Amino acid sequence: MANDNNKFQAIISHCKEYGFIFPSSEIYDGLSAVYDYGQYGSELKKNIRDYWWKWMTQLHENIVGIDAAIFMHPTTWKASGHVDNFSDPMIDNKDSKKRYRVDHLIEAHADALPKEQGEALLAEMDQLLAKEDFAGLKTLIENNKIKCSVSGTCNWTDVRQFNLMFATEFGAVSGEGDDNMVYLRPETAQGIFVNFLNVQKTGRMKIPFGIAQVGKAFRNEIVARQFIFRMREFEQMEMQFFIRPGTQKEWYEYWKEERMKWHLSLGIPADRYRFHDHVKLAHYADAACDIEYDFPIGFKEVEGIHSRTDFDLRNHQEYSKKKMQYFDNDPGPDGKPYGNYIPYVIETSIGLDRTVMMVLSEAYEEQDLSTAEKADSRVVLKFPPKLSPVKLAILPLMKKDGLPEIARDLMNECKASFRCFYEEKDTIGKRYRRQDAIGTPFCVTIDHQTKEDGTVTIRHRDSMVQQRILLKDVKEMVEKAIQE
Ligand code: ATP
Repeated sequence: MANDNNKFQAIISHCKEYGFIFPSSEIYDGLSAVYDYGQYGSELKKNIRDYWWKWMTQLHENIVGIDAAIFMHPTTWKASGHVDNFSDPMIDNKDSKKRYRVDHLIEAHADALPKEQGEALLAEMDQLLAKEDFAGLKTLIENNKIKCSVSGTCNWTDVRQFNLMFATEFGAVSGEGDDNMVYLRPETAQGIFVNFLNVQKTGRMKIPFGIAQVGKAFRNEIVARQFIFRMREFEQMEMQFFIRPGTQKEWYEYWKEERMKWHLSLGIPADRYRFHDHVKLAHYADAACDIEYDFPIGFKEVEGIHSRTDFDLRNHQEYSKKKMQYFDNDPGPDGKPYGNYIPYVIETSIGLDRTVMMVLSEAYEEQDLSTAEKADSRVVLKFPPKLSPVKLAILPLMKKDGLPEIARDLMNECKASFRCFYEEKDTIGKRYRRQDAIGTPFCVTIDHQTKEDGTVTIRHRDSMVQQRILLKDVKEMVEKAIQE
C-alpha cells in the first residue's frame, strides 16, 4: 500500500489514466493550476453537484437556487471589500525570485518541526496575521531561518499584499482605464447578495431563508501545486442563509451541524473530518470555521462556514443606494412586528473540485489480491453508488449465441434511468478490473444460463462477490442502491 504522499501522486496518475482529470491544454504542456474533467471526472463532479443541490434546495424547503453571471458590475467588488481586502500576504525570495504565500511558507516549515515547536510557531504566526503585522511576519521568517525551497537562501523581500482577483476588459474598446475593467468573480456569493431582493420578493420568501448557487470562481492563487485542491479556475457551491439580526449564533451552530450531516451522508467516517475555528476572521465575518478533511496531504479545508453579519447587504445598500431591507411582519418580544432591517447572513461555502478530491481520496484503494498460485492486485474506487460515474456495466460473456442481444435489451431498459456502460471485449476478469478502476458499483454478466433460466451474475465492486439474480430484477436493484 502506498504511503500518503505516494497515494496523492497515485491518485493524480489514476485520474489521468482513467479519464477523470487532465491538465488543461495538455498538448501545450498544460496551464498551471487549471484542469479539465474527462468523461468519468465530469460525471463524478456532476453527481456531487447534483447531490449538494438536491440536499440544499429540494430537502430544505426554505432554500431556493439561482444561477448568476460570472461577470458582475465592478462596483460589486468594491462593496464586497474584495478590491481592498482580497489579498494574501506574500513574500519573495530575492535569489530565486520565487513568491510564497507567507502562511504557506511558515506552515510548511512548522510541519517539519517537532509537534510542540511547530504548534508554537503557528500560534505566533496566527497572532501576527490577525494584527496584519507584516514586519513581524518577516522577522518571524528570518528568526526561524526559513529558507526558499528553490534557492535554499534566507534572502527575503518585505511582506506585501497581493490581490487575487483576475481582471479583464469589458466591451470592444480597450485601454480606456478602469471604467472598462471587470473582474472574474472570486466567489459566487456576491451574485446571491445582489439578487437578494429579487429572489425574496418574487419568491415571497420569509426570513429565515436561503439562496444557493453553484458556479465557477477564479482566483490568481500564488501557490498552486496541489492538483485540484487549489486551482485558479474552480467551482464553488455556496448558500447564503438570511436571518434576523441577533440570531446568528444559533444559526451558525445549526449550519455547522447540518453541513457535517451532509459530509457524513457521503459515507465518509466522522473521524476523517474535523472543525477548525478561525482565529483571524475575514473582513466580513463575526465567526468562521472550516470543515477539514484528512486528505492524503493532511487535514485541509474543504468547506467554510461563515457568519457574515450584514456586512455584504449593508455595503451593497451603501454603494448602490438601493435599500437592501426586509420587512419582518412577525411579532417581536414586545408584540409589535420586528419591522425593517438588513438581514444577517450565515454562509456555507464548499469547493466542488475539493469535494471531488475528497471523494476520490476516500474511495481510492490499492488492493493486493495475490494467492499462493499467482500475484495479483487491483485499484478500486469505492465511491458511494450515488456518486459513481457509471452505475452498471453490462457485459455479455461472449459476442455470440444471442448474448449481446439480451445485454442490449437490458441496456435499453436501464439507460434512461442511470448511466450504464456496455462492453463485449476482453475476458470478463479484465472487464471487471476496468470497472473497479472507475468505481462502477455493479457489473452484470449475461451468459448461456441467462437464456435458460433468465438469471444473470451480478458482481459487487467492493466485496467482489458474485451473485445470481433474475435479469428482470437488475434495474430495480441498481436503482435502490443509488438512492441510498
Ligand atoms: P484557502 O484558505 O484554502 O485558500 P479559502 O478560505 O480562501 O480557502 P473560501 O474563500 O472560504 O476559501 O472558499 C470556500 C471554499 O472554496 C473552500 O473551502 C474551498 O473548498 C474552495 N476553494 C477556495 N479556493 C479554492 C481554489 N483555489 N481551488 C479550489 N477550491 C477552492
